[in-house]
Amino acid sequence: MTLEELLALASKGGKKATRYQQQSTGYERNIWVAELAKRLAKGQCQLCIQPAPFKNAKGEPYLETHHIVWLSKGGDDTSENTVALCPNCHKKMHIVDDSKDVELLKTRCQQLLEDLKL
Ligand SMILES: [Zn+2]
Ligand SMILES: [Zn+2]
Repeated sequence: MTLEELLALASKGGKKATRYQQQSTGYERNIWVAELAKRLAKGQCQLCIQPAPFKNAKGEPYLETHHIVWLSKGGDDTSENTVALCPNCHKKMHIVDDSKDVELLKTRCQQLLEDLKL
């Protein structure tokens, strides 16, 4: 598609986005699993190992919890399957889901939990 064609399509239609109802499946999640993942991450993304990009309103580093094997693919809502990621890496996991990243996250997740047991 040329830029001109794209421009023509983008300019077509009204200015207001049309409202529609979206059906989505929600999951009842264990909030303590998420809390533990964030605590163990110590403010660092478990994929890029960078500090959280900003703090939330409470002044805590902002990280998002991610299930290494997605719940929608039968993954468990357990500490062994949950990591804390920065918003960029979280998005990346959902868009790319690179198997190398998945393995890396599994290893790091296990490491954190093992350190905890010592
Ligand atoms: Zn990251
Ligand atoms: Zn996720």
